[in-house]
Amino acid sequence: MRNVLIIGSGCAGNTAAVYAARANLRPLVVAGKHAGGQLSMTTLVENFPGFPEGINGPELVENIKKQAQNFGAEYIHGDVIDTDLLNHPFRINVEGEWIETRTLIIASGASARWLGLDSEQKLIGHGVSSCATCDGFFYRGKKIKVVGGGDSAMEEANFLTRFGSEVALVHRRDQFRASKIMLDRVKHNPKIKMLTSTVVEEVLDPSQHTVTGVRLRNLTTGAAWEQEVDGFFVAIGHIPNTAVFKGQIDTDPDGYILSKGGARTNIPGVFHAGDVQDRLYRQAITAAGAGCMAAMEAERYLEAEGH
Ligand SMILES: Cc1cc2nc3c(=O)[nH]c(=O)nc-3n(C[C@H](O)[C@H](O)[C@H](O)COP(=O)(O)OP(=O)(O)OC[C@H]3O[C@@H](n4cnc5c(N)ncnc54)[C@H](O)[C@@H]3O)c2cc1C
Repeated sequence: MRNVLIIGSGCAGNTAAVYAARANLRPLVVAGKHAGGQLSMTTLVENFPGFPEGINGPELVENIKKQAQNFGAEYIHGDVIDTDLLNHPFRINVEGEWIETRTLIIASGASARWLGLDSEQKLIGHGVSSCATCDGFFYRGKKIKVVGGGDSAMEEANFLTRFGSEVALVHRRDQFRASKIMLDRVKHNPKIKMLTSTVVEEVLDPSQHTVTGVRLRNLTTGAAWEQEVDGFFVAIGHIPNTAVFKGQIDTDPDGYILSKGGARTNIPGVFHAGDVQDRLYRQAITAAGAGCMAAMEAERYLEAEGH
């Protein structure tokens, strides 16, 4: 029987582990198939406080993990494939093995949706990004493409005009899902060009290990052409990793956990941390802060229950 089980080993899960371990709760972290979470996919992180020269994403999450282990946190590999949160203690199935726990911290993140191109996947962190706030700064005076047609694509495109010499928004349809106000902002921004009815067929050039351009195709005319690009931002949404809690944890229609205040979910003793609940900020520092909150709430819950 564990006091605290944490699902996910990104910034949120690892920070929750630091706090829970320092409270002598010997947390167990189920690291997940993507150990280290989203930051392990990127290179330089320049906006995490405390690192004036920046720090590589994988090193940052690994450091937080080591810090947690130094205080007694334990890590196991694998994914949670099933949960029973309707009975006490909670039961968590990790790759076929059931583990019991008095409290649970869900820090399973939200995965960015990608186009799915092989070339795009190879260049994530090397010119391909899903986060303008995180990576826009790297593209000062550079050519940027943003893919998407919803509000987040409009927001990313607008934000990126602070940095890029030119920003082009690529959308496969000729109509946008984005709200009128967001779309109007983009249309009236002289730095943004719209490429509608257009798809990205390839991101160039994996053989150079950096983004140099894109191959586009116009779906109406069939014409294909290449354009030079330095930064390629995919803004087609995120998928919160909450499938294994379906029917137990309250979520919004998109699957993000609904907070009941602080780090609390609808089930007492189950807490949320990081991007799995946060559709707004989605930053390493906010995820880490949320991990701290969840661990402190778990500790208080256990205390009140007499453990
Ligand atoms: C390319 C890229 C660059 C970024 N750059 C920056 C940046 O420069 N600065 C910044 O502040 N933010 C950046 N971000 C955003 C930042 O990475 C996220 O906000 C942050 O990682 C969220 O942390 P998290 O712990 O909530 O979730 P995640 O990092 O997504 O971690 C989720 C964890 O849960 C695990 N998991 C999921 N499902 C299961 C399951 N069923 N069982 C067990 N484990 C599970 C995963 O394997 C993973 O370990 C970037 C994101 C990306 C994709």
